[in-house]
Amino acid sequence: MSEIKLRLPVKDVFVVQPFGVNYAGFYKDLGMKGHNGIDFRARHGCPVYAAHNGVILTSGTDNQGGNLVQIWDKNNNFKTLYYHLLDWTVNQNQEVKVGDLIGHADNTGLYTTGDHLHFGLKETIEGGNTKYPENGYNGCIDPAPFFSSSFNGFPIGNNWDKSRSYHRYYRDAKRNLANEMKTALYMARRLKRLPNNEEINACIWGGWDIEAVLNPSMYELWSQITKDEYNKGLKPFN
Ligand SMILES: [Zn+2]
Repeated sequence: MSEIKLRLPVKDVFVVQPFGVNYAGFYKDLGMKGHNGIDFRARHGCPVYAAHNGVILTSGTDNQGGNLVQIWDKNNNFKTLYYHLLDWTVNQNQEVKVGDLIGHADNTGLYTTGDHLHFGLKETIEGGNTKYPENGYNGCIDPAPFFSSSFNGFPIGNNWDKSRSYHRYYRDAKRNLANEMKTALYMARRLKRLPNNEEINACIWGGWDIEAVLNPSMYELWSQITKDEYNKGLKPFN
């Protein structure tokens, strides 16, 4: 019995375009019913990680998708595809482990309008060939139900598409409910509403000042990286 279990391929998670959407016939012109993968925000040079163990089927350049890596899990009969890459750090037939760096994100290929990672998932048959190439998505299926952990293995369950702040920046640390309650009450007084998980975590686990968290123009920063990371010069989606 085959089982598909995936880690996220990027560190900071923001879905730009989910699977299956069909913008004004764009995919129809490409012979598909809709978008055949998930687009993750990922800036030029952003590290891309293997979503599972497997062997490299392809690493190189594709006419339409730009630079591409494909990883095949022959035991569980599926493969994952990583498109529009800047470069690749793995070679054909190489074995990779889940979480290994496989390349960096960019904007290569024909059908892309900005830096992002297009992530695809296909069921396979012998040799890593696609099982249902005529399914209307070039054999791709929606990867969304199969993500269960962050790029570094932190369990995130069904909330895989939430920010790093929501997941306490993937920190495996014990929660301090008393401290969280105190912060939440203080924030509620300032906000005149209850703060959400992301906002509380940004203060408790991210080390951000409440002022920063209350500033909407700083959301992209604190929701994805900690204050420490920011002070070290890190930027989200990079
Ligand atoms: Zn895409």
